[in-house]
Amino acid sequence: MRLILCAVVVATVFCSKRIDLKKEGERYDAYVAALPELRPVPNYLPLTLSVLYAEADNLPTLTADERTRLYRNLEAKAALIYGYRLQVREIKARKLPEFFTAVKSRFREFPLAYPSYAFPISFFDGDREKRIAEALSPLWKKHDAATIRMYLGDVTDAQAAAREFLAKLSRIYAENDLQGKPLLASGNKDDEMYFSYGHWSSVLQAEKNADFILTNTGIIGADTGMPLYVAARGGVTSGFIENNAASPYQGVGVIGLYPFLAETPYFNEKRGALSREEKLESILWLWLHELGHLLLKRDENYTFIESLHRAPPDLKYFEWVKTIRYTFNHRTFEIPQMKKF
Ligand SMILES: [Zn+2]
Repeated sequence: MRLILCAVVVATVFCSKRIDLKKEGERYDAYVAALPELRPVPNYLPLTLSVLYAEADNLPTLTADERTRLYRNLEAKAALIYGYRLQVREIKARKLPEFFTAVKSRFREFPLAYPSYAFPISFFDGDREKRIAEALSPLWKKHDAATIRMYLGDVTDAQAAAREFLAKLSRIYAENDLQGKPLLASGNKDDEMYFSYGHWSSVLQAEKNADFILTNTGIIGADTGMPLYVAARGGVTSGFIENNAASPYQGVGVIGLYPFLAETPYFNEKRGALSREEKLESILWLWLHELGHLLLKRDENYTFIESLHRAPPDLKYFEWVKTIRYTFNHRTFEIPQMKKF
């Protein structure tokens, strides 16, 4: 769940049609407000989790066998930890560009297109540092100084945090993909949408077939509503859930695998060089964390350090797994419930 700062701007967009973002923001907020309050999914009936795999050819991927193993492990752990009888099935594997082409109307049709327009702070925006500082400044109101320090280190204010954020994000984008090209640079500007939280938000809210989209790209970039743990990672969102009016679970999720699978100097330094098994186990636990949101409607937890409901505080995914994998009580029912994703 993210609280988005609504900028009062009128954007001129690709199709040269002028869109009044203030008005569309109000429509979007009204749409979300009218959705029914979230309810935990009961665990006495068997559940199906339909998964779509969206694959970018230029990034490390999971094989079909590895995915099958991941799904079986997710079923086993969801039963053990949450008591859910889950059947995970992959409904389709698609190429990421084809998938985005197939869903492009979701970036045009309001109100659900609104996140794709209003949330992103483009890496190519001349004003990006100022806008990132504005996006980060509410964190100082939301969290106490000790929590801020735990995640962001000794930064003095939002301006300093924005500079550090951009330094990290620039390193991530500058690293090479499997074809030897930078992940995101002026030569492939149009790929920015694949990394964009706002675009994925619009995709998820209008999704009608899948309960989860698994993709080997990463949700990596700046946006107007970044939580503390995303700010600390230079814009890396491992996965998230969005409201979805058509879903029996009231939401649809996405997990971006790139930060788990990347074998680049930045990720090996910040995350650690992990074995294939350690990467798969990290993805499994992150997915279980996301199921805590999707099925149990639990909020983000910053308090219980040994609970899987606490997002990994930085990119040290496997260190996080070691902290939580043998926890007996994840404190699920002490964590507040969300009203909306
Ligand atoms: Zn979370």
